Amino acid sequence: VIVSRDSIYASIKDVVREKMILGLASALTLARAKAYCKEMDNISKLGVIPNQGILQSEGLLKYILETGVFPREAKTLKDLRDATAKHPLGFMGAAPDAGQLIALLLKLLNAKKTIEIGVFTGYSLLLTALTIPHDGKIIAMDPDREAYETGLPFIKKAGVEQKIDFIASPAKPVLDKLLEHDVNVGSFDFAFVDADKNNYWNYHERLMKLVKIGGIIAYDNTLWGGTVALPEKAVSESKREWRKLALTFNNDIAKDCRVEIAFLSIGDGIIICRRLH
Ligand code: SAM
Ligand code: CA
Repeated sequence: VIVSRDSIYASIKDVVREKMILGLASALTLARAKAYCKEMDNISKLGVIPNQGILQSEGLLKYILETGVFPREAKTLKDLRDATAKHPLGFMGAAPDAGQLIALLLKLLNAKKTIEIGVFTGYSLLLTALTIPHDGKIIAMDPDREAYETGLPFIKKAGVEQKIDFIASPAKPVLDKLLEHDVNVGSFDFAFVDADKNNYWNYHERLMKLVKIGGIIAYDNTLWGGTVALPEKAVSESKREWRKLALTFNNDIAKDCRVEIAFLSIGDGIIICRRLH
């Protein structure tokens, strides 16, 4: 029963996700998202974690989250995650297990200056702000100010707002502006990219200049629901275009000798790049 429901609602979810990522969310798609979320609530009431992630296993994801992630998640992050779940597009929020990995990377890097592309309600943003030191800075960009403002009370409550410079804009012009000033070049320790997938390579070229040698860039959703491993005809039409973009980006990154990479099956797939030169 769960599988058949999931496949019906997955297609609605994809349409909304694509429109949202493209900044084209309309009243119609929002209404469909609300209907989707209502149904997902009903499924959740059955005690099932609806988003199985790339593991495609409710049991394993539940085990990981309940054993190692939720017990260690900061209260403000949990509160933001709960508020995001009520948002009509709440499924876009970052996966908490992937968030845990990002926090660990930030700590290992001793990251102080970071870039966040694709904020939504700010789960990964708050997580980063909580992890970097008091005088750390995050330049965060997303054209959707309203979604950011949903998460803002939690950021304020956590006392980390001063670390965040949120710019309500598509990321590309902001990155270009940063590159106009030499002081920014090679100055960032870390970047998290979780936005419009058709621009990932544009972001990569710019981030390769902004992030310092030895710094890290993490790209989210690189396994696109597992569709990258399926033949095109086995993938629903709404997922095909994004599957193709992920395939191209993944192939290009795999060949880019300016970075070393780790290709991870966590969340919806993350590629971690370390800039070599
Ligand atoms: N990282 C977020 C989190 O932790 O919950 C999730 C980000 S959500 C999957 C994708 C976001 O990318 C959306 O909020 C959308 O508005 C944003 N986006 C879409 N096009 C963009 C663009 N050109 N530049 C920056 N952000 C964009
Ligand atoms: Ca994502």
